[in-house]
Order: sequence, then C-alpha cells, then structure tokens
Amino acid sequence: MWPDNLVQATQLDTSIDDRATVVIIGTGAGGPAAAWELARQGVDVVMLEEGGFYPPEFYRDLGPLEAFRHLYRDFGMTTAIGKNPLRDPAVPFPLGKCVGGTTAVNSGTCFRTPESILELWRREFGLPFTDEEMEPWFDLVEDVLAVEPVPDDVLGRNGELFAAGAAALGWHGAPLRRNARGCRGSGRCVFGCPTNAKRGTQLSYVPRALMSGARLYSDVRAERIVRDGDRIVAVEGVILDRETNQPKAPFRIACDQLIVAAGAVGTPALLMRNGIQAGHPQMGRNLRLHPGIRVCADFDEPVRGWKGVPQGYYVDEFWKQRGIMFEGIFVPPGVALPILPGVGDAMRQHFERYPNLAAFGAMVKDTSNGTVRPRGRTATDIRYSLNDHDKTNLVDAVKKAAEAWFAAGAKRVYPAIYGHAVLNSPDDIRKIDPRRVRTQHLEPMAFHPMGTVRMAADDKLGVLDADGRVRGLTNLRVADASIFPTCLGVNPMESIMAFAHRIANDLATELLDG
Ligand SMILES: Cc1cc2nc3c(=O)[nH]c(=O)nc-3n(C[C@H](O)[C@H](O)[C@H](O)COP(=O)(O)OP(=O)(O)OC[C@H]3O[C@@H](n4cnc5c(N)ncnc54)[C@H](O)[C@@H]3O)c2cc1C
Ligand code: SF4
Repeated sequence: MWPDNLVQATQLDTSIDDRATVVIIGTGAGGPAAAWELARQGVDVVMLEEGGFYPPEFYRDLGPLEAFRHLYRDFGMTTAIGKNPLRDPAVPFPLGKCVGGTTAVNSGTCFRTPESILELWRREFGLPFTDEEMEPWFDLVEDVLAVEPVPDDVLGRNGELFAAGAAALGWHGAPLRRNARGCRGSGRCVFGCPTNAKRGTQLSYVPRALMSGARLYSDVRAERIVRDGDRIVAVEGVILDRETNQPKAPFRIACDQLIVAAGAVGTPALLMRNGIQAGHPQMGRNLRLHPGIRVCADFDEPVRGWKGVPQGYYVDEFWKQRGIMFEGIFVPPGVALPILPGVGDAMRQHFERYPNLAAFGAMVKDTSNGTVRPRGRTATDIRYSLNDHDKTNLVDAVKKAAEAWFAAGAKRVYPAIYGHAVLNSPDDIRKIDPRRVRTQHLEPMAFHPMGTVRMAADDKLGVLDADGRVRGLTNLRVADASIFPTCLGVNPMESIMAFAHRIANDLATELLDG
C-alpha cells in the first residue's frame, strides 16, 4: 500500500492549492534523489510529475505497446531533427514520462562519472569536482540502487558471444554494473521490469523520499514558474486526465525554493517558456546525446537474445582514445528487424533467423551540438546535427563491432550503414570507408540527452553555477541531465543522481543553517 502523501492527481475532482518549502519538478533520475536528500534532512518537499504513477504490480504483464503508451513521452518517439534535414540523420531518443521518469524504462547500467571527465570540467569550466569529493555521493547512490555486476547466470548468450569476440581480439570488457539485484534476465528492461528487480527511482528513491515525509503529485504538468523579482514564489500548471492527456483542472504550489529536474529537454523548455535566462548564450544549447548504432549479427547457433540481460556486458577498449563504448542491446523483433535490409522474402528470412540474431550497440562520446527550444504551450523543437568527427567515430565503432562479431563466429553482420547491407566476412569490413560514408547513410539512435542548462564557473559559459543554481535568481536550482558541461561518455543515471544529492545537500545546509 502506498502512503497518502502520494497523490495521483488524475483521480482528483478538484484543483490543487498547496505549499512546500521546496518544490521539485520531475521524478526521473535527478528529482527523487534530490527529494530524498532534502526530506531525510527534515526539509518539507513536494515532487511534481507530469506522467502517471504505476504501482509495482502494473509492470508485471506490460507489453511494449502499453509501455510506450504509459511510461514514455510521445509513445517513445522523441526525435532530434538535423539542422539540415537533407544532410543530417534524425536521431530518435526516447524519454520516460511517469513516476520514475526515464529510469523506469532504462537498462539499469551504472557508471560513476569518469575522473577524466571531472578533470576536463575543472580545466575548461572551472568546476571544483574531484573523484574524492564525489565518492561519498556515488557510494550512497550505489547503496540505494544496490548496484552490482551482472551475474554470469543472467548475462545471456548475446553478451557472452560479444565478450568472446572481444576477448579473442584482446579487447577489454566486463559485465556491466547495474541496479537490478535479483534480476531474472527476462530481457524486458526498456519496457519496465516485470519482476521489479530493476531499481528505477519509482522503486528506490521515491519510496525513500515519501517515507521521509516528502509529498508527490503525479499527473501534473508544471507550466508557469511564478516570480517576485529575483525569487520564485510558486509553480502553477495543470492536472492531466491520464487517459486523454488533456488538462482537467489547475494547480498551484507556493514554495520557498524550486528545483527543476524535468530532464535535458523538459528543463530548458520550461525555463525558457518562463523567460528564465532565455537569452543566456548557453540556455537550451550544447545538447549531447551519445549517438549510437545497433550492429546485428547472424550465428549458426541459436542466440535467443531475448534471454538474459539485454545490456549486460560492455567493451571499453577504445573509450579513452576514441570515446567509443560498446554495450549490449537486444530488443523485440518489431524494433530490431526494420533496420535489417530487405523486404518481402528477405524480411521473412530475417524473422525466421531471429533466434540466431545477436545485437550490440556502439555509442560515442559526442562533440556534435544540438539545441532545445520551446514551441507553443507544450511542444519542443530539438535540433542536433552529427558532425564529421562523430560520424567517423560511429562508422569506426560499427566496423570494430563487426570485427568482434566475426571473431565470435558470426556468419553475417548487418552494420546498418546505407550501401553496406550485409557483411559476409571480415574482408567486407575493409570495404567500409568512413570518408565515403555520409552522415545521412547512418541510422543513429540515442538514449542520453544532456548538457542543455550547463554548469560553469564563468557566468558566460554556464547558465548554472557549480552548485546548480540558476544565475540571476536566488532560489532556483537544476538537478538533472541538463547540468553537465560536456557529455560523460558513459551512461549518465548514476552521475545525475550523485550530482542531485550534492545540489540538494547544499540547499538543505542553506535552509537548515539559515
Ligand atoms: C531506453 C533507455 C535506456 C537507458 N539506459 C540507461 C542505462 O542503462 N544507464 C543510464 O545511466 N542511463 C540510461 N538511460 C538514460 C537515463 O535513464 C537518463 O539519462 C536519466 O533518467 C535522465 O534523468 P533526468 O532526471 O535528467 O530526466 P528523466 O529521467 O527523463 O526525468 C524527467 C521527468 O520529468 C518529468 N517532467 C518533464 N517536464 C515536466 C513538467 N513540465 N512538469 C512535471 N514533470 C515534468 C518527465 O515526465 C520525467 O518523468 C536510458 C534511457 C533510455 C531511454
Ligand atoms: S532483465 Fe528482466 S528481470 Fe532483469 S532488470 Fe531487465 S527486465 Fe528486470
């Protein structure tokens, strides 16, 4: 039974008029970590979430279509369009929209922020973060999420084969560390974990925050940030009918402090819509995505990639030098097969070969740039153009993934590069010349938007200061994926949570000491 301080506003017949010391908008990775940090220190907190709350039993029989409808924003179709749509490939990057946000539908992989990235931020953005200073926050996050390496018995044949291929080539790799103790390898992480082993924030931080006295309204979309001079005094918006997604009543929560944690798309859009630092040179800019490509392979042996953790193993041999990371990825036929070449009979054969197909993702630490801008009352324009450097890295990453698959014994590899439908042997890999591959010949996807409201010591370089405070306002902070000055090169959830703790702890100290 969930406590009374969780209010599913869609079930209310009235408007909401409330107040809290701290209001937090968004319950993905950042919001709930900040909420628990504040609540456990005795601060009065209200969390607001546009999506619905779904109890653990809801996840048990959730199919992909229901998951896209209930747990994802725009049915999982969020897409960045190229600045030059004729040249740049569109990059889909699904976002969660529910209590738990994108953590409810993510793969559960946990990485600390690499020291080389913190060092870059110290050097180029004047930020004070060190491994040593951040370590207690990472330890805490890993304790809350019960982070541990994927056990051998749920790694799955897909991961085992790529690991074997990488090992044969002498490349470094290891089982990923994840937040899914007790995982049964049911392979459905991105549609919501049916066994509730994966500790999205709806099962970890949100219950902790509620138990510590925080309150949560689901089904409410924050639209207006009400100011009095340089202070935020309230958040207003609409209660949504969960079935129709239409507004049914207004809400207003007065507050002393506001933390926006609506994600790397939602946060800049909300701030700009409200005229907050809308003209700052970095607001809504610097969007990074970690673009990636799925490389499929056909084996003589049955792989049954749906068994085991889809993202259970990684290979980081080329990360330091090139920013290339390989991570497992396996999805149902409806999602996987359209990227394979052919129609009619050829597609039928792919379906027949589905049990023998393996798939791994190759993502890159991107230097390409994107922007997020609000459009109308609720929509956003998201632009992102893959630059030549990242394109070359992606093509090289695909070639290396193909090498690993052949080293593991694959008979064919599908590189998802236009003009190279299928590779029948390692010799075919050499035919892919990155200089001849155009950006529009790739079909990238992404899962890690970040950087759109970044931190920096210099006020021209960052919308936020090093404590996550929005410049020019006294009581507004950001605590989500938007705050990072560059991309991380690794999956961001754990970093977002650790920084959210840090930002909230700083605020708690200010409130309790002041
Ligand atoms: C399929 C998939 C797999 C992934 N796998 C991994 C992984 O294995 N490891 C990893 O580290 N990362 C992974 N990620 C990325 C990771 O989940 C996100 O980076 C992280 O959740 C972002 O946290 P956030 O707090 O910035 O935003 P989100 O988690 O996106 O949460 C933002 C929340 O704010 C809400 N919101 C937005 N606007 C408003 C508003 N106006 N009013 C009220 N609420 C609002 C949204 O509905 C949402 O719930 C994956 C992502 C996807 C899509
Ligand atoms: S593999 Fe299955 S049990 Fe394990 S975390 Fe993913 S969905 Fe949950």
